[in-house]
Amino acid sequence: MLKETRSTCCYCGVGCGVIITSEDDRITGVRGDPDHPANFGRLCTKGSTLHLTAKLDTRVLQPEMRTSRHSPRQPTDWDTALDHVADRFAETIREHGPNSVAFYISGQLLTEDYYVFNKLAKGLIGTNNVDTNSRLCMSSAVSGYKLTLGADAPPACYEDIDHTACLFIAGSNTAYAHPIIFRRIEDAKARNPDMKIVVVDPRRTDTATFADLHLAIQPGTDVALFNGMLHIMLWEGMLDQAFIREHTNGFDALKETVREYTPKMVADICGIREADLVTAAKWFGSGPSLSMYCMGLNQSIHGSDKNAALINLHLATGQIGKPGAGPFSLTGQPNAMGGREVGGMANLLSGHRDLDNPEHRAEVAALWGVEDVPATPGKTAVEMFDALKSGEIKAIWIACTNPAHSMPDLNQVRAALENAELVVLQDAYGNTDTNIYADVVLPATSWGEKEGTVTNSERRITHITPAVAKPGAARHDWEIVVDFAQRLEQRLGKANTLFNYLVPETIFNEHRESTRGRDLDITGLSYQILDTQGPQQWPLNEKVSTGLQRLYSDGIFPKPDGRAQFHIAHYKPTADKTDARQPLHLLTGRLRDQWHGMSRTGTVAQLFNHVDEPVISLNQQDMERRQIKPGDLVKVSNKRGSLTLRAQPSDEIQPAQSFIPMHWGSQFMSGLGCNALMPSAFDKISRQPELKHTAVKLEKVELA
Ligand code: SF4
Repeated sequence: MLKETRSTCCYCGVGCGVIITSEDDRITGVRGDPDHPANFGRLCTKGSTLHLTAKLDTRVLQPEMRTSRHSPRQPTDWDTALDHVADRFAETIREHGPNSVAFYISGQLLTEDYYVFNKLAKGLIGTNNVDTNSRLCMSSAVSGYKLTLGADAPPACYEDIDHTACLFIAGSNTAYAHPIIFRRIEDAKARNPDMKIVVVDPRRTDTATFADLHLAIQPGTDVALFNGMLHIMLWEGMLDQAFIREHTNGFDALKETVREYTPKMVADICGIREADLVTAAKWFGSGPSLSMYCMGLNQSIHGSDKNAALINLHLATGQIGKPGAGPFSLTGQPNAMGGREVGGMANLLSGHRDLDNPEHRAEVAALWGVEDVPATPGKTAVEMFDALKSGEIKAIWIACTNPAHSMPDLNQVRAALENAELVVLQDAYGNTDTNIYADVVLPATSWGEKEGTVTNSERRITHITPAVAKPGAARHDWEIVVDFAQRLEQRLGKANTLFNYLVPETIFNEHRESTRGRDLDITGLSYQILDTQGPQQWPLNEKVSTGLQRLYSDGIFPKPDGRAQFHIAHYKPTADKTDARQPLHLLTGRLRDQWHGMSRTGTVAQLFNHVDEPVISLNQQDMERRQIKPGDLVKVSNKRGSLTLRAQPSDEIQPAQSFIPMHWGSQFMSGLGCNALMPSAFDKISRQPELKHTAVKLEKVELA
């Protein structure tokens, strides 16, 4: 029987709507949903080949487990697997306390999955050791918004691309990482050639090539650039003094700070022309200005400062809360935003509450019907794997993510997984680097098989429903958590009351209630409304009857006095610095046609037409100086590891810089991938590690 089902693409945070075609319970095709406001029918190369990933040869279809660490895993049934894990978790918690276990989850999960994981850790077990791969992706954007605007809420929307006069893209190769947004940018530019596009990126990417002005700054110098732009706008009288006076705090201190960031000094730090800096500042100051930013700002030990320093520009010029204006962080993963909404991170609680706020903990405890939510901060991603390595955490449950590929300093992460007493992996795919370390594998459903909600970059929630039935013995992520939680409740002698969910809608409704009175209040939303009225932006409640396209149009910010806060940030260098022994900057990033660790895109032949192997891209000068020819093998190394791959000249790359895409890991190449070389140093506020940059040395491999 032929069937069509509305869903979303499961790759990036644009959150494009798709229509899945299935025949006899088998996915046979996909096309863009013309009615979905994220993409209006368009799909990129990854989205339009999604149906080709719907095959079973790389799937995990039955639970597997081993009873001793180094024996091979054997197929088993759900009862045996979940009883074993519940026994081991209960035993570990009784002997070593709740903080001896941890959950490492994913921005690929649906909001309902995220919600129950968070409740399991913080409500039932009593540990805040629940963090997510969104820590590697978005946590600096979260802290940037909270430091300045008061809430983790992107204030702009995709439609603002059509209204802006200056699109300021920083640390984002939108053409590759968010292709459908880039199509909108191309359309907007074609309609309005006067619109100015500025791209800030050390590499001359496809996005930078399209720009009117490319600021090819030296890696990690973004804060100096933003402070320098503010200096110029201040000098040129381009600031919105009325907005600053009526809606913000802290401008005088910021003015003093940026006074020293003269155009000459900033041009020297950033390695750009003074005239280009002035042009960028003047275009931004004229407005309306929309900034879009992503990993280039976030994946940094100064990610919070970078985010906040950019938001300073919007506040100082009043470029927020109106058409075509605002600071708009692009989410990397399809549901990073949903995970933040339910507080699925070590420092957050449901409904955008903060763990370090006693009132927030009491509110969530009351909502869940538990005595309390523990105050002790949970371990964030890097800290979690460090604690696993040291033995402080004994058992870890990993869901829908691949830390043995995606974390920085991979040799240490792999040592941690080796050292763990128990590694549980809940995943749909068996072809991941993390799978090797799992003692128990729990098969989960995947794209086209699940029901629940996702929230995209512009705060828009979509309800997705399954196109086909669960394959093999796979179960939905939320179902696995609920079944395990009920078994654990029994073993810990707790009443079996917290996880009485039979369908995801009940979980959504509980999540919805947790947002009542909060900035993201969605108490006016239901599965039925999403199905009949289509995807909706939050907030949506009795006061806001249709989702808000833009936030803060009234100039009132969710801070105690309703005023936004300027953030003081100074330029500081990257964690790793180049020197005589490691003279080359290594930058990492994404390709147009691959996604994360390639467990899905790596199975589609046509997605290798764009780039078919991992290479290190180098400036021609650096290749000539080292007598490296295109295609030569080179060894790239630093104190954390080494990688051997082919060299390729690229005019995208500045002298003394290099680039490796982050997709290839040990499943697809010999070696661990570029993240093995990256530092695990992280931002002090957001605790997001610096996955974008390190320093390396390069040696030509002489073949015998
Ligand atoms: Fe999927 Fe992102 Fe491409 Fe849209 S832009 S089709 S969400 S990968």
